[in-house]
Amino acid sequence: MEPWLADGFGNASSLHREGRRAKNAVDQAREILTGALGVLFAEVLFTGSGTEAANLAVIGAALANQDARRSRVLVSAVEHHCVLNTRPMLERLGYRVDLIPVDREARVRMDALEDLLGDDVLLVSVMHANNEFGTLQPVCEVAALARRFGALFHSDAVQALPMLACGQRPLPDLVTFSAHKIGGPKGVGAIYILAGVKLKPLVVGGGQEREMRAGTENVAGIVGFGAAVGALSERSSPAPARDAFLDVLADVPGWTPSVSRAESLPGHAHGRFPGIHAEPMLIRLDRMGLAAGSGAACSSGSLEPSHVMLAAGYSGEEVREGLRFTFGPETTIEDAHRAASFVAEAAAAVSGIRS
Ligand code: PLP
Repeated sequence: MEPWLADGFGNASSLHREGRRAKNAVDQAREILTGALGVLFAEVLFTGSGTEAANLAVIGAALANQDARRSRVLVSAVEHHCVLNTRPMLERLGYRVDLIPVDREARVRMDALEDLLGDDVLLVSVMHANNEFGTLQPVCEVAALARRFGALFHSDAVQALPMLACGQRPLPDLVTFSAHKIGGPKGVGAIYILAGVKLKPLVVGGGQEREMRAGTENVAGIVGFGAAVGALSERSSPAPARDAFLDVLADVPGWTPSVSRAESLPGHAHGRFPGIHAEPMLIRLDRMGLAAGSGAACSSGSLEPSHVMLAAGYSGEEVREGLRFTFGPETTIEDAHRAASFVAEAAAAVSGIRS
């Protein structure tokens, strides 16, 4: 990214040499991402974030298909807020939005989805993997079911790009991504739009990104996104560290995992200590140098009750206990063991019980 931050000032829409150089850099990044996804060059557009990409998928589809026959949108109850919070806008556009319920592990209930589906559904939105629990969703089954009812299928794959980057064409009609979840810069996203699927742009102006996302391209950010995708094949899996962490926690009194390892993202661990609130745990862990999370960090920086845990059927009290740990490719087994011992120590200290 450095050359594009330091002196690559050409505007990718300009015709002069500097502009063409910038455009080539953007196209190269697009080449890398589309190659990794096994899709056509023209099927991927860059956006300003994963949130913007998901907004474009859901609201853009609603705007482009205002056909009264399809007036419903189905959204899983555990979607990221970038999808869930499109609801008021969809309703203003005349759509009815129904939430698809999930099971105790935050997995979409296929029986409920089938009951909700009908030929009046325009779009189904089910993420690839949940950002809090790490739960992998039954994307193949959802794709088949949505297709049976002629509905569009959007999947937020912000947490799952490494799983998709294997050159195998994605199944949904619309898939959204974010660079910063794979080691790229913050403030860059992308959307895959299956050829032929119609969307209306949300950001209009200069006609960039095939007139679907106006605004001068963030060349450095897009180049960084491409580089991060290119580096995915060399990244080691975070699973050994995550598993080492969970192996230690399995012997810590009270630790209750929320989702089975086999059914979750390789770098995620979620669970709770019944009777121990997350907030004092997280403060202690932070002091020890361990950056962990609860539900989702809300914009004010305080802890918001997790809509994922609530949707998965946890009580208000249990929701306050949820802890989320994520592991990167650089997390070592030693890091994981240290982290687990910090968690055990914090749980013992907060509960007042010495282990
Ligand atoms: N979707 C999921 C599942 C996420 O975890 C996030 C980010 O945390 C987003 C969407 C939003 O992406 P961005 O931060 O690029 O807007």
